[in-house]
Amino acid sequence: MPDPILRLHHFEPLSRSNGPGLRSVIWVQGCTLNCPGCFNPRTHASQSGQVVGISDLFERILAGAGQIEGITISGGEPLQQAPALLELLKRVKSETGLSTLVFTGFTWEEAARIPQIEELLDCIDVLLAGRYRSDLRIASGLRGSSNKTVHFLSARYNQSDLDQVPPAEVIIDPTGEIRFSGIEPLRE
Ligand code: SF4
Repeated sequence: MPDPILRLHHFEPLSRSNGPGLRSVIWVQGCTLNCPGCFNPRTHASQSGQVVGISDLFERILAGAGQIEGITISGGEPLQQAPALLELLKRVKSETGLSTLVFTGFTWEEAARIPQIEELLDCIDVLLAGRYRSDLRIASGLRGSSNKTVHFLSARYNQSDLDQVPPAEVIIDPTGEIRFSGIEPLRE
């Protein structure tokens, strides 16, 4: 079977502000939901970013498996690439003990209409769902705005775990490049 491909905005190997503990983070490229005040508009264009194979992404995750406790998928809109996302999450679930956290701009009810949703939810520990609404901004507990709903789909985490996630981080990679991340980043 050919390796499914995913359009990637950025892969961050080690992050502390995108879920509990140390995690690898995948920001997918492409989102059509257009939330006013979106914090990451550079992820919207569906033809930008890099095209990567799921096996490549999985290898990048495995490279950090001794350090990280899980992965986070953000965007962009992950559920608009549901087939590739499902293949990646199935491998993470079946071949590693890593936890999985997914941000989506779709509401829980909208997500329920995605064809692969049952299999996807079976591979996800925590799903944060709903559009970002700048008028309801809270930027805490991993929720950008208070309308977003949190779905604990396994016993792995609870709200207290999400509340302890730092709202911001500064990452300096080995090349000296500086990146800002988190639900309330110090700088976009
Ligand atoms: S779903 Fe996320 S990436 Fe898409 S517009 Fe809304 S906040 Fe931005």
